[in-house]
Amino acid sequence: MSSTIYLLTTLDIHCYPETEKDVPLWLEETLKLLDKFSINATFFFPAVIAEKFARYVRAILDKGHEIGCHGLTHESEEQYNLMPYEKQSAILCEAKKRIENVIDDEVISFRSPIFKINGDTIKALQENGFRLDSSVNSQRIGVFSSDITNTGWIYSPRKPYHPSFDNPFVRGGSSVWEIPQSSFIFPFISNSGIAFGGTFMKLFFRMLYIESRFRRNPIVYMFHPEDIYSRRDRLLYKFKWSHLLPSKKTGFEIRKILFHNKRPEDTSRQIIGLMEMMRNSNNIEFLTFRKMLRLLESKDG
Ligand SMILES: [Zn+2]
Repeated sequence: MSSTIYLLTTLDIHCYPETEKDVPLWLEETLKLLDKFSINATFFFPAVIAEKFARYVRAILDKGHEIGCHGLTHESEEQYNLMPYEKQSAILCEAKKRIENVIDDEVISFRSPIFKINGDTIKALQENGFRLDSSVNSQRIGVFSSDITNTGWIYSPRKPYHPSFDNPFVRGGSSVWEIPQSSFIFPFISNSGIAFGGTFMKLFFRMLYIESRFRRNPIVYMFHPEDIYSRRDRLLYKFKWSHLLPSKKTGFEIRKILFHNKRPEDTSRQIIGLMEMMRNSNNIEFLTFRKMLRLLESKDG
């Protein structure tokens, strides 16, 4: 049996009016970093952002990375778990087509905005020709997320699986592959590192690495391009009493106090340190989602 540990590096792209001018800088910095470590990654773009930065999207593709879909607009109303099937399908169809027009290639991978999906999302993904989803955070505790009432994550499988159309957190009959975002209580994403520090993330990686050696599940890591841009403006968190109460849309806002107020140069250094450690670990192979699909299919067949 191969002892290769598969690592899927993913980037979720966001853009707000006040940060629009900086997105190209973040993307360029990210490409440099991935180049330095010879890592091929999957960039999840909301369709409207892919259109806005079409030139950069094509440059990312030319470097051998994959472009996936991160919804249509990623605005707060785009919550797939709350939409009826028909609406989800229409939005996913439009988002996929619009990104495909930008890259002149097929889009097969999806990650939902703030990781929210339901069984209808899986059905809509399959109907629209998506092959892979990475919105399930297996064994992440929802209370630390934007989806505080989600209990499905607690029991969802840790290995890639075909979800059910009735419940995306259990195995079922869809042809879509769910590749869970690696998690254990917390997600293996840059936000956890910003909250708990670089040593925490390195230990987290060690744990996932050992698990992967025994259980053969790929490791999925996510960061945002802005996280590694050390010259970005610091976001200062402004406390409001309402942040102590959970909201159905964004969970406990107070948890954001952990992310903001950190120095961008520290966050950047920490992520680069983690990437270096991952790159230098034995038997690691970095894959895009599309390449992971090929491996899964060769095992299935
Ligand atoms: Zn997002």
